[in-house]
Amino acid sequence: MKKLLWLLLGLMFKISASAQDFENYPAKYAQAPRFNALLVYDPTAEEAHVQFDEQAVSFFHKLTYGEGYNLTVTTDFGAYCSHLSDYDVLIWLNYSPRAEAERTAFQRYMENGGGWVGFHATAYNDKDTHWPWYNTFLGCGIFLANQWPPQCALLTVDTQEHAVTRNLPKEFVAAPSEYYMWYENPRKNPDVDVLVTLSEKNYPFGIKDVITYGDFPVVWTNRNYRMIYLNMGHGDESFISPTENLLFTNAFRWVVSRDPKGDPFLK
Ligand code: ZN
Repeated sequence: MKKLLWLLLGLMFKISASAQDFENYPAKYAQAPRFNALLVYDPTAEEAHVQFDEQAVSFFHKLTYGEGYNLTVTTDFGAYCSHLSDYDVLIWLNYSPRAEAERTAFQRYMENGGGWVGFHATAYNDKDTHWPWYNTFLGCGIFLANQWPPQCALLTVDTQEHAVTRNLPKEFVAAPSEYYMWYENPRKNPDVDVLVTLSEKNYPFGIKDVITYGDFPVVWTNRNYRMIYLNMGHGDESFISPTENLLFTNAFRWVVSRDPKGDPFLK
């Protein structure tokens, strides 16, 4: 009889505990936009890059639904350079500043804990761009080669231990894009974590310009900054791969979550 009483008491406690858990359950509903993002693109860039950029604007806009965060879209980065610290993350779509004042403001912003998500030609540089700090920031050398035309590709996830890739399969087919090779290769940089790479199973890769071998890191982060670079970003058939879209959301969310002012998703 005593045993039965204890059993009943235990059961009642369990029920009330789980009811309490349920009461405490509700998702962390945002009471106000959690952070501010500044998205930059260049409408005078090559047409296929602008096509990607416009699709990316739509992609990041959809992520704001419910006013989860404030998204400012601009084609005039210079107009924001005096108050970059108002923004928790910058999204650069095929954009790279040429003006000295913009470069200086960006460097200061990143060296003070700013966040950055960069796509495709954003990292394009060559002997004529004359911005050595940008290479230090990106963790790679200059553009070396690409395949042509843009096409779907099998990508390999280098590690599933990272927050950006932990829910991705080991391999997936990405939406059509153009891929770049770098010299020096960012994989050689001890401060860089390469997260996604073009699979060698693609070779020979391309129809006009054919890549037959080599290492093409596609997504990486330089641990010295709150940044991630994604090499995708060419053409109007982007954002059609759920796996790749998940990667983009993960990358964006990861950079934002590491804000030195605190993780805005825990608010
Ligand atoms: Zn391109």
